[in-house]
Amino acid sequence: GSAADGGRIRPLPSSVVHRIAAGEVVPRASHAVKELLENSLDAGSTQIDVTLTQGGLKRIQIKDNGHGIHRADFPRVCERYATSKLREYASLASGQVATFGFRGEALASVSHVARLVEVVSKTPGARCAFRGKYAQGQLLDGGPTPCAGNDGTIITIDDLFHHVSLRQRAFETAAAKTEEYQRCLVVLQHYALAYPHVGFSCRRTTQAAPDLLPGDAPGAARTDRIGAIYGPRVAQELVWIYEHADDRVTSYDGAPYAWSCEGFVRPPSISAVAASASRGRWPLFINGRLVTCRPLQRAIDRVYAPYLPKGHAAFLGYLHLRLPPSHVDVNVHPTKREVIFLNEETVVEAICQALEQKLASWATGRRFDVRQ
Ligand code: ADP
Ligand code: MG
Repeated sequence: GSAADGGRIRPLPSSVVHRIAAGEVVPRASHAVKELLENSLDAGSTQIDVTLTQGGLKRIQIKDNGHGIHRADFPRVCERYATSKLREYASLASGQVATFGFRGEALASVSHVARLVEVVSKTPGARCAFRGKYAQGQLLDGGPTPCAGNDGTIITIDDLFHHVSLRQRAFETAAAKTEEYQRCLVVLQHYALAYPHVGFSCRRTTQAAPDLLPGDAPGAARTDRIGAIYGPRVAQELVWIYEHADDRVTSYDGAPYAWSCEGFVRPPSISAVAASASRGRWPLFINGRLVTCRPLQRAIDRVYAPYLPKGHAAFLGYLHLRLPPSHVDVNVHPTKREVIFLNEETVVEAICQALEQKLASWATGRRFDVRQ
């Protein structure tokens, strides 16, 4: 469209479109780490090692031992809406998508904001690894080129917000970078709880030793991980719960609705953490995905409220809901952080009832009748 016809509405250049969209998918370094981590899990990795420079703003490197990327797929790795995981909409609509990824947006988005994305990958069948460098969605230098490497994938992102200077400035200070490192670490810790058979490590380049997780060999007990993440004192207080209903809940269409819920729950106690310290600190997973579910969060806070001093919030440690996949809509937001599920009220209520009984049995005589 030219301006000659007097019209004022004109399409944005595609580079602008990509950068705007990328802002939504990777608002901060920890989101990029989450996307990369999920790709490694999608690839069936059993060991995932993350190294971060300046809280991931300067460099993020993630190394996994998953099934790798075929040479022929290299040109498409950073292409927007190109994925190896979804072929038709029907499988998304029917809940058959078992992978984290399906939108083909993460690496594309990163490549549009970052200075450089480098992928080194080897599939188990290949004789050598291949290396590709990417910017603005494109594979550079006519790659990929053969190189040495182990089975699995190493992805390196340099200068994450190189092309979005405003975002870059928001993370300029040392304090912001330290906070971002913590957020990245928390993302890894949360996944470590949901995927106990996978080993995770996180290291900052300025330190020789990784921050995650002592004794964190693949298959390490989840209680070890809880201790490593929250410290031994909190870990001792957390109690494992498992609730399930195979057919007790009837879904909207009259069919039996099986769900289960497992996790570590902290009995209410005087040492309850302050609300500000606990909010967003414990992870909720639904069908293997790290999500936020405000109705459930609010309901849990209500269950705990009578047992906690004012200004203190429920702290659960870890909660994992398993629902019929066809009832969970994971495609609510580009970050896939929000999910919507059917029979939400019924399930939330059932979980909270179970929790309420537990709390009541634990807290006899410890009730906070006097609110400060
Ligand atoms: P999505 O995960 O939605 O498919 P991404 O942009 O996250 O989109 O990744 C694009 C593609 O790159 C994936 O579909 C996958 O084929 C490949 N890929 C990315 N990371 C890895 C990895 N760590 N191991 C194997 N393949 C990967
Ligand atoms: Mg992905």
